[in-house]
Amino acid sequence: MGFDIIGCRPSSEVGKYFCNDVWNWRPLAHYCYEIAPDITKHCREWHTNDGDGLDADQALALAARLDAEVRAGCTEQHARRHESVREMMPTKPCWLCGGTGTRKPPSGRGIAEASDALDFDSNGEIVIRGNLIDKNCPIGPGDMKTGVKCNACRGEGFTRPFAAHYPFTVENVRNFVAFLRECGGFQIG
Ligand SMILES: [Zn+2]
Repeated sequence: MGFDIIGCRPSSEVGKYFCNDVWNWRPLAHYCYEIAPDITKHCREWHTNDGDGLDADQALALAARLDAEVRAGCTEQHARRHESVREMMPTKPCWLCGGTGTRKPPSGRGIAEASDALDFDSNGEIVIRGNLIDKNCPIGPGDMKTGVKCNACRGEGFTRPFAAHYPFTVENVRNFVAFLRECGGFQIG
């Protein structure tokens, strides 16, 4: 899943389109409403593809606020703090194999169901909806010991918590500022 931020009245190529995957977008959006809540409140839905956004004046105001933060070195500090928090997050028993390191080989349908069943709660923790195990798979639960090596943890039984996969970089903020200046307002789609 990703986010396409579309410029409403772009004045250049840069202002037409800004794209982030979900991992990069979430920390960027969080940073925006941390430093500019008075501006970001005009957009209610930062994490859905429902077309909410900011108008031209609000986008320019947000660009100015972010640019000031980057110039003052505050964004760099935020990025370092974000990275150290990510590094200190402890590993957890693998969410897919339950820490055993092995799992049943899912069929094609099982894999599709698995990816559809994954979601995140507000803390960035993995939430599994529905059933990950294909009922038509000929291998039963008793065969877990001899099942295939788990592809989520590479058989190690532990994975990094999902919250540790969200990067935050100054470069992404700079690119967003360049977009905001030229977009003439934007919609999140
Ligand atoms: Zn595993």
